[in-house]
Amino acid sequence: MDVKKILEESNHYIMNTYTRFPLVLRKGRGMHVWSSDGKEYLDFVGGIAVNILGHCHPKVVIALQKQAQRLLHVSNLFHNEPQIKLAKLLVEHSFADKVFFCNSGAEANEAAIKLARKYAKENMHGNRYEIITALNSFHGRTLATLTATGQKKFQKGFEPLVPGFRHVEFDDIAALRKAISDETCAVMLEPIQGEGGVRLPSAGYLMEVQEECREHELLLILDEVQTGMGRTGSLFAYEDFGIVPDVMTLAKGLGAGFPIGAMLATNKVASAFQPGSHASTFGGNPLACAAGIATVETLLEDGFVLDQCRRMGKYLVNGLEEIKKEYPSVITDIRGRGLLAGMELTRECGAIVKACMERGVIINCTAGNVLRFTPPLIVQEKEIDHMLDILDDVLGRLS
Ligand SMILES: *Cc1c(COP(=O)(O)O)cnc(C)c1O
Repeated sequence: MDVKKILEESNHYIMNTYTRFPLVLRKGRGMHVWSSDGKEYLDFVGGIAVNILGHCHPKVVIALQKQAQRLLHVSNLFHNEPQIKLAKLLVEHSFADKVFFCNSGAEANEAAIKLARKYAKENMHGNRYEIITALNSFHGRTLATLTATGQKKFQKGFEPLVPGFRHVEFDDIAALRKAISDETCAVMLEPIQGEGGVRLPSAGYLMEVQEECREHELLLILDEVQTGMGRTGSLFAYEDFGIVPDVMTLAKGLGAGFPIGAMLATNKVASAFQPGSHASTFGGNPLACAAGIATVETLLEDGFVLDQCRRMGKYLVNGLEEIKKEYPSVITDIRGRGLLAGMELTRECGAIVKACMERGVIINCTAGNVLRFTPPLIVQEKEIDHMLDILDDVLGRLS
């Protein structure tokens, strides 16, 4: 089928929820994807922080093939070994004691919100149900998670929203202190705001948030859907900031391309969930968990991938800084941690993304004017150099 026909059928049959590039992707290997017309692209988006091991990593593909031949699905009325093994791996390498599996980031956050409310009902004095989240945050598209999301543009048209959320300025501890009330049960934050434009908190902010939560006996929920699974150079971003949450959510990179989400908590908090409290038909599906196991094991092997991520993250940010020097009137800020990097511009960045794509490099634009780079953690210097060359050239032509 020719591209024109595919695009026509896409518009005809697919619900119109995305503005898509007129490109049909068919194949991927490592840092590259290929479109239906055979053109090769260097992928610095990686499924938006999903393909952490690159496209079709052999360990993940083989784990999926093996598991697919053995058992695709069983209900959660039974135990299955991949689910237990992945939970054990996550627990052994994090603060958490227990894991609930689901299928996406929004579902993981939805589960965290429900757990916080139930824990509060059973363990906190008074009537505490309110969750404080940050302005400019992103937590998902279900009704509760889009209410948690501190951006009006995602909420517009879907009112009435879910009661029990309050938003405060990110990175402003005074605003958080002021917002805590007799109804507050939890604070939910991304350690680094991803969709909101790769916004890092200033040093000490998250520690102060943790102190505030401890003092008022509130739960600290970290949404690590984007920052988790090695993205920042540590397995989880909370490690970088010297804090320990009560609840953490994961998805995106957890299956290296296979859909899976998880909500992790300490024993104390997790005990608020009992049989019947929460459920997911597909959650902890053996195939998804087999992908998760292969992903976590590959990430942890000798710390190689995490080490690579830290080094390449520095290399990428340095390169972006160099470009910033050339275009001081267009580029206002470079920021990042590990391989989550952002370049803030004085203008909309859609045209830059499009021009880079025409030159065979895929990058992303978020929050309107921030170029976001979330390449697979296996990216190498020569690939970063190539992307930077193209970006430099495109900026030169467009500015
Ligand atoms: C992507 C993302 C989500 C939503 O994940 P979905 O799998 O699309 O539901 C939630 N929180 C953060 C921080 C994200 O980056």
